[in-house]
Amino acid sequence: MGNLPLDWRVCSRARLSRDPRFDGKFFIGALNSGVYCRSICPAPTCKEKNVCYFPSAAAAAEAGFRPCLRCRPECSPGTPAWLGTSNTVTRALRLIGESGLEDGGVEVLAGRLGIGARHLRRLFLKHLGASPSAVAHTRRLHFAKKLIDETTLSMAHVAQASGFGCVRRFNAAIRNTYHRTPTQIRRLARQIATLPENEYVFKLRVRPPYQWKSMLDFLAMRATPGVEAVEHGSYRHSIFLNNLQGYFEVSLGQDPDTLNVRILFADPRSLFLIIERIRRMFDVNADWEPIANRLRTDPALRSQLCAKPGLRLPGCWDGFELATRAILGQQVTVKGATSLAGRLVRSFGVPSSARNGLTHLFPRPEVLADAKLISIGLPASRAEAIQCLARAVCRGEINFDGVTDQDAFLRRLAELPGIGQWTTQYVAMRALGEPDAFPAGDIGLLRASGMNSPRALEARAEKWRPWRAYAALYLWNSGHGRSKA
Ligand SMILES: [Zn+2]
Repeated sequence: MGNLPLDWRVCSRARLSRDPRFDGKFFIGALNSGVYCRSICPAPTCKEKNVCYFPSAAAAAEAGFRPCLRCRPECSPGTPAWLGTSNTVTRALRLIGESGLEDGGVEVLAGRLGIGARHLRRLFLKHLGASPSAVAHTRRLHFAKKLIDETTLSMAHVAQASGFGCVRRFNAAIRNTYHRTPTQIRRLARQIATLPENEYVFKLRVRPPYQWKSMLDFLAMRATPGVEAVEHGSYRHSIFLNNLQGYFEVSLGQDPDTLNVRILFADPRSLFLIIERIRRMFDVNADWEPIANRLRTDPALRSQLCAKPGLRLPGCWDGFELATRAILGQQVTVKGATSLAGRLVRSFGVPSSARNGLTHLFPRPEVLADAKLISIGLPASRAEAIQCLARAVCRGEINFDGVTDQDAFLRRLAELPGIGQWTTQYVAMRALGEPDAFPAGDIGLLRASGMNSPRALEARAEKWRPWRAYAALYLWNSGHGRSKA
């Protein structure tokens, strides 16, 4: 436990007060029962001498502890990016989230990160207390447990969707971990309301505070007509994945600190990826404390942090869609960009089978690569920028998935015509989820911060690192400034 990023006294206080702000930041092993718990577990608390603390669920599992059936560690918010001390671990976790360790194991993962497998293992042990394969295994297991508890999928489908390959391996892993069969676990779970075919409802926990309304307002202002819809407090987006259509909907749950996610999609094998993308879009893994501690040092931000604690970084469903939208937003108002986006979708998007006001899927890069974009009233320069982006994506030169070298990715993006500093930083912020991205040339940021040049603003923003993207959101939110995209 020497590698625990938190002081054990902090863990102890968080455990005894069942503090939800620490949910997922560490796990508690109960020595008597051999079970590991979240900081919020409702079970009676043990004496301090009978517990130990782990930096991750995988570390607790590797030490031989079983997940608690009451607090369900699989439901805790994800490992926060305050691992920031090791960017490599954060990127590795993201890659494991996207594709598990299915394609090639630790060696391939390390290769993609540009380091050796032994070094990657060492970093994982240092920051998470568990090896990459243990982390991947725990994630798979946790997702399987979620599917058992929260859906009516057949066990064969659960095995497949959670990446176990065959039912025998899945059964063995579940029995080994929970000392119960999958069917017994499902019986224990609360009665699941029967949902229409291919429809799933999940709960995603967030660490409080979480400014849901600001998140929704931000997305509503920029919602692309037909592809996204915000109404009655919920956000919807159409999905196109592996040649299948669907949609998802996110709203604030009735349970505290929970987002409700409804997914309509025909292939349960894609659920993991869909949920992982939604988690990122809604910045579920973020940890408020270090962000607030850093930004509070700026007097102008301090009052806003107090007024609206827990602002999150709105991500996106699809990187190409976001980047296209960012180009459309150059030199026009948000409203102007929204109406251009609507026309783009109606002219080049595929009609969607989803309901609820989602009439289209966002146009594919293959279509925009050769489309007559000026026909929707787009200036020639921006039409060309979108076309070049679409072509680069089609050629595989730009790939928004599994970005491991962010700087190289942004350099390639900036080489395209019509994509400057503002656009690359905006894309880094919302498509890559980079907490330190900062479009210093943004008119809204300049206005809200009262700085008269991007350079002056950059200099002031040095103090906000590595959370400059959150500072940007506070400035945009202050009412004095609006972002362009
Ligand atoms: Zn528990």
